[in-house]
Parts: sequence; structure tokens; C-alpha cells
Amino acid sequence: MDDRHIDPSAGDEDRHFDNTLRPNTLSEMLGQEKTKGQLGIAIAAARQREEAMDHVLLSGPPGLGKTTLSYVIAKELGVEIYPTSGPLLERPSDLAGMLTTMGERDVLFIDEIHRVNRVVEEYLYSAMEDFKIDIMIDQGPAARSVSIPLEPFTLVGATTRQGLLTSPMRARFGLNAHLDYYAVAELAAIVKRDARLLGFQVSESGAMEVARRSRGTARIAKRWLRRARDFAQVEGENEIDAGVVQKALVVHSVDEMGLDEMDIMLLRAIIEKFDGGPVGLSNLAAVIGEEADTIEEVVEPYLIKEGFVKRTPKGRVAMPRAWERLGMDPLEGESGGEQLGLL
Ligand code: ADP
Repeated sequence: MDDRHIDPSAGDEDRHFDNTLRPNTLSEMLGQEKTKGQLGIAIAAARQREEAMDHVLLSGPPGLGKTTLSYVIAKELGVEIYPTSGPLLERPSDLAGMLTTMGERDVLFIDEIHRVNRVVEEYLYSAMEDFKIDIMIDQGPAARSVSIPLEPFTLVGATTRQGLLTSPMRARFGLNAHLDYYAVAELAAIVKRDARLLGFQVSESGAMEVARRSRGTARIAKRWLRRARDFAQVEGENEIDAGVVQKALVVHSVDEMGLDEMDIMLLRAIIEKFDGGPVGLSNLAAVIGEEADTIEEVVEPYLIKEGFVKRTPKGRVAMPRAWERLGMDPLEGESGGEQLGLL
């Protein structure tokens, strides 16, 4: 079983669950209807034509199911998947090694494809387009390039930063699917499916409570369900209801809107240190002691989607909802109201 497919923060027991619970088909994957629709057609067409499916780019924040979907694509196509990731492909030979081992129509899955270096990226172009790879053999005067034909394959690339992909790279994907945050009802359905497969009871209110606190993210919903299950077991509760979830998550500092400590820290920084903004990303990163990339890729997208923060040309601005969450009035700040256009 491939470990990279599993939440890295999971313990052994969690890993076991993740293997049990991983969706294997498009219909087992809940939510992401638009993406599943697009992929379903492409998979069926490739199967009918007995051809390799077109290359697919999956983008979106972490934990929404990009890796899962890649495995589902391979399963639905009835082929093998060869997983790797951008930083692991250091040299062209790393890529050539994988591509020459793959069978006809197999899937090459490159996670974090925006981190593939430029040299390897050049090699990927001809592999994707012409199913061949030119490698240099020997060195010095005897050095020569040999073109190795490859079996037709499907590249599935996953990225949290579509914007960092070069345009020639992006242009080589026939399908470009964006995964969105899950709606609360979808996450509740994912939670209920997990509970059913693991054979324990979660009430409707319990599933909704987990879902609401999960930042629209499948990985987080699964994690909170496991914590609620631990809590219920220790407390001798035989059903996970909303009360159990609330008590179980108190220790994990996640609020009823799903915001965690980092989210709150970011909102506090914009409001308290920068008067509601606008503040540039690097200043914000310095104040909260987090990498700018992490803020941009992981923390901020959800806060923006939920209307807590807005990205403007001058920087990040706290929205009224952020002030409300911190129990403050936007007009209290010296210039906060002005920045929001409220004065
Ligand atoms: P990503 O690659 O986007 O970071 P993963 O594919 O690793 O996300 O998914 C994170 C976790 O959420 C995994 O345990 C996966 O099985 C689960 N998951 C993701 N999407 C779904 C879904 N639509 N239905 C059920 N479980 C899902």
C-alpha cells in the first residue's frame, strides 16, 4: 500500500482506517460533481477507444481528494498507477526510469507537479506529447542523445498552485479540473460513509457538526471523525452526536465555524497589528511566523471563500465577518472601517 496516499499526520490506526475508507470508484467519491462528470466521460471514452486517456491536471487546496482521485482514475481505467512527486524527480533519469517501466495506458501520478524542476519539465514535454524521451548517454565527446519510445500513458498531475505551472506545461494537459471545498452536506455524507464502513454510530447532528468544523476539507472531516470516535469510546458513549463532537474537539481548538488556531491568528494579525489591512503577504507571514506559501496555499483560500478575508491589489483586508468572529466592531479600528469602505 502506498503511504504517500495517506494523511501524513495519521497514526498507524488512522492509516489502517484510511486504507479501508479510501474511495475506489468515482461513484464512491462523494461531492466534486463537476470534476467527476468531466473525468467520467474522459475515462469511458478512453476505455471505448482502447487508448490512453488524455493527461489530467488536478488543482485545488490540500486534502480535497486530488491523490484519491488519481488512484480512482487508474482503477476506473483498469490500469496501474505509478506515483511520484515533483521534488522526487530530481534528474531526467528519475523520470526516464519510471516512464520506461510503465505499461501501455498506465497512469503516471506526479503530486506537487509545480515543483518539478525546469530540466525535468523539458523532458516531460516530449514524453507527454510524442510518447518518447530523449536521453543523453556517455559523456564528453562520445555523448549522444538517444530517443526512447514510450508506451502511451496518462499523466495525472496534482497541484495546490496552478498559477506556478509554466504555460507550456499547462497547455499539455487535455483536462484541467479544479477541486473545490466541499459543502457541509457533502462532508456530512463522507463522514456517514466512514462511520458506516467502520461500524459505529454517528447521528445526523453528529455528522453535520463534524462537517461544519472541517474547513470544507475531506481530510479534516475524517480526522475530526476519528477524534470524536476516540472520545466517544473513552467516555463510553455508543453514538457520536453533536454534543460528543463539540466536547471531542474542544482540545483541538477548532471553533464552530471550523476555524483553527492558525486561522484565528491570521485574522487577529490583520485586525490587531494592521488595523484591518491592507497588509502584504510577507508582512503577514512575518507577524504570525508562518511561511508565506503556506498562508497562500493552505490558510487563506478558505478564509477568502468564507468571506473573512479579501485579497486586494494593496494586500489582505479583514472583512466584517472577521471582526465579528473576534467579537469586535469593524468601526472600532482606527482605519479598519475606512479600509472596508464602511466610513
Ligand atoms: P489531496 O491529494 O488533495 O491532498 P487526498 O486525496 O489525500 O487529498 O484526500 C485526503 C483524504 O480525504 C483521504 O483520506 C481521502 O481518502 C479522503 N477523501 C478525499 N476526497 C474524498 C471524497 N470525495 N470522498 C471520500 N473521501 C475523500
